[in-house]
Amino acid sequence: MYISKNINWLRPFFNEVKPMFPKIKQIKSIKIMQTSYSKRDRAYGQIKELDNGFQIAIRTSFQHIDFYPLCITLKPFSKVDLLITLAHELAHLYHWTHSPEHKLLENQIANVFMFKLKSEGYKDEETELGVVY
Ligand SMILES: [Zn+2]
Repeated sequence: MYISKNINWLRPFFNEVKPMFPKIKQIKSIKIMQTSYSKRDRAYGQIKELDNGFQIAIRTSFQHIDFYPLCITLKPFSKVDLLITLAHELAHLYHWTHSPEHKLLENQIANVFMFKLKSEGYKDEETELGVVY
């Protein structure tokens, strides 16, 4: 299974849930979805079917707009955000539409991810991204 270099840290998380949900073996690659400045896109990720399996694409940054002065920058999503996106896309292997069943499975996978993230000493998004509120 191929994972883009910058999100290769997702691999152990992916491997953690693979034995629990056999269809996950059908994922052939996880790639970064480019965020463009010109186009607004509300999707955080997508999953598509290929000839030999499925491909997941995940957005790793989002457009941030400051108005005074006007300044549009790309900001990174946190590890928490990316793991929830991955859980969301993996749940589509079992439930193709956004049904309550899909959300329940997404939450189930996300819980496994969050326990693992916590066990690795991850504190919070604010610490990871250096955000001060
Ligand atoms: Zn979806």
